[in-house]
Amino acid sequence: MSPCPSCNSAHLVLRRVYRRGSLAVFFGYCLLLSSSLVGVLGTMGVVATGSDGDFGAARTRSALEAAGVPEQVAEEVFTRQEVFETELSSLGEAQRRLVREAQMAVADSGARDTIERFTGGNGFRALVVAAVTSGLLGWILVRKERVAQCSSCGAFAPGRAAS
Ligand SMILES: [Zn+2]
Repeated sequence: MSPCPSCNSAHLVLRRVYRRGSLAVFFGYCLLLSSSLVGVLGTMGVVATGSDGDFGAARTRSALEAAGVPEQVAEEVFTRQEVFETELSSLGEAQRRLVREAQMAVADSGARDTIERFTGGNGFRALVVAAVTSGLLGWILVRKERVAQCSSCGAFAPGRAAS
């Protein structure tokens, strides 16, 4: 290590400091945070795609038919329309319970569809590219470097010290 350029002291200490100013570092952490949020969203999408939403809905539909629920009511359930009280009153207790379960299953698969559509679309792919880019940029901004600082006068030695 070369001696201090201003006082010629040989007492230099290595410090890890941010390469950029505090504003750039703050911005860098924001970029890292936003890119990790996209990562979380992507993970949710993978989980949602792996689920059996369509299969579950088909199974529910055949269960309704097997229980003798009228085609009209089943249609309303799966097109997410309101099932009227007058229609429900003509059904037995077990049939009404099935209809309620089917409505919940349809609503659940609807939420999954939304996530799937979002994470499977081109918009999300562009978002992933943006997230990777901003993550990389953020990482560059928050990177630290080792510099030699004089312990007597506080001056930084020119050039980067070898790590
Ligand atoms: Zn010095």
